[in-house]
Amino acid sequence: MPVKRRLGVAWRSSIWRIVAMLVVALVAGVALHAVALALLVAFAALFAIELWRLAKLSRLVGERRWPSASGNGIWDALQNARRDGQRRRIDEKRRLASALRAFRDAAAALPDAVVALDEDGRIDWFNAAANDLLGLKYPHDIGAHLTNLLRSPRVAEWLADASEPLADLPSPADESRRLSLRLIRYADDRALLVARDISQLMRLEQVRRDFVANVSHELRTPLTVVHGYLDMIEPEQMPEFEPILHELRNQSRRMTQIVEDLLTLSRLEARGELPQERIGMRALVEALRREAVALSQGRHEITAHADLCDLQGSSKELHSAFSNLVSNAVRYTPAGGRIEVRWICGAGEGRLSVTDTGQGIPAQHLPRLTERFYRVSTSRSRETGGTGLGLSIVKHVLQLHQARLDIRSEAGVGSTFACVFGAQRLLPPLEEADSP
Ligand code: ADP
Repeated sequence: MPVKRRLGVAWRSSIWRIVAMLVVALVAGVALHAVALALLVAFAALFAIELWRLAKLSRLVGERRWPSASGNGIWDALQNARRDGQRRRIDEKRRLASALRAFRDAAAALPDAVVALDEDGRIDWFNAAANDLLGLKYPHDIGAHLTNLLRSPRVAEWLADASEPLADLPSPADESRRLSLRLIRYADDRALLVARDISQLMRLEQVRRDFVANVSHELRTPLTVVHGYLDMIEPEQMPEFEPILHELRNQSRRMTQIVEDLLTLSRLEARGELPQERIGMRALVEALRREAVALSQGRHEITAHADLCDLQGSSKELHSAFSNLVSNAVRYTPAGGRIEVRWICGAGEGRLSVTDTGQGIPAQHLPRLTERFYRVSTSRSRETGGTGLGLSIVKHVLQLHQARLDIRSEAGVGSTFACVFGAQRLLPPLEEADSP
C-alpha cells in the first residue's frame, strides 16, 4: 500500500479511537453524574498516551535503521514510513556504490591511461595503465598537479588549450614509448586525461614513409636514363614510330613528375625545423602572376593584388605551394575564364588566395581533396599533366607553417583556395619595420 494511503488509514483509526474513548467517558460521566470530570480524565489519559508515543518515537531520531512498528495508529504509521524511506535510501546507495565500482573496474581495465582531474588540474583518480604509461604512483600522486608530474614544456603549453590531441610525446615512464594525449572536459571544470601508447602506430608510419621515400629514390635513376635515351631519339629517323615516341616521352615525363612529387612529400614529412625567412609578398605575388600568365598562354584574364605586409617562413616551400594553386587554377579553368591571386592581411591573419572561374568542385569531394592521388576527374588531371599530389604537398607545407588551407568551391561557378596564416607569421613591410 502506498505511504499516503497507509497514513490516511492510520489517521482515521486514531481519530476513531479518540472518539470512542470520549464517548465512553461521556456515558460514564452521565451515569456517575460527573460529566466534566469524566471528560477531563479522558482528555488527560489521551494526552499522556500520545505524549508517551511521541517520546518513544523521538528516541529513534538519529538511529540509522528504525525498527518496524506493529500497531495501526498514526505514530506507528509514521515510524514505518520513515523505516521504509531509510531502506530505500540504503538500497539506492548500495546500487550506486556497485555501479561506481563497476565503472572504476572497467576504467582500470582499459589499456589506455585514464587520469581524472579536478577543477584545479589536480589528480583525483587514475587507472593502472596510468602507472605504466605516465609513471603515476598510487596513492602518492593523488592530489598532485598534473604539470608537476608530466614535466614537459610541450605538455604545459598544450594544457593551456588542449582542444586537439597532443601526439608523439615520449612516455615519462619509458622514453622509448610514444604517447598521444587527449583532454576531455566534462561537468564544468573537470577533465579526463587519456594517454594512448602509439609507439607501434608510429613505427608502422615510419616504415610506410621510408618505403615511399626509398621506392621513389630507387625509381629516379632508371627513369632519368629512360628519359635521356628517349630524348636522344630523333623522330625523323623513324617517322612510323613518332606517335609512340611522343606518348613514351609524355608518360616518362609524368612518371618523373610523380616521383619528384613523392620525394617532395617525403622530404616535407621528415622535416622538423624550417628556415624562418622574410618573404616579400608583393614580389612573390607578382612572380605568381607571371607564372600564371606563362602557363595560361593568353587563355585567361589574370589579375593580382598584394597588401603591404610580409610573411615569415620557408620561401622555397611556400613559393612551391602557392605555385601549385596557381597551376591548378590555370589547368582547371577553361579558356576565357578569370584567375585572381590575392594576398590580404588583416583581422589577425594573412590570406593568400587563388580564385578562378573554372569548373569548380562538387561539395562531396572537398573534404578529400588534400589526400594523396585524390582527383575529382582523373582524366582531366592526367590530360593537364597533374599527379594528384599537388594539394597534398600544399597541405604539408602549410602544416609546417601552422597555417591551414581553406577551400571554397561550387561546381560550374569556380573555386577559391586560400592559405590562411596566423598573426605570428606576419611581418610589417621592410620600410615600416625600419622606421622608428
Ligand atoms: P592534380 O595534380 O590532379 O591537379 P591536386 O592535388 O593538385 O592534383 O588536386 C587534386 C584534385 O583537386 C584535382 O585532380 C582536381 O580534380 C581538383 N582541383 C584542384 N584545384 C582545382 C581547381 N582550381 N578547380 C577545380 N578543381 C580543382
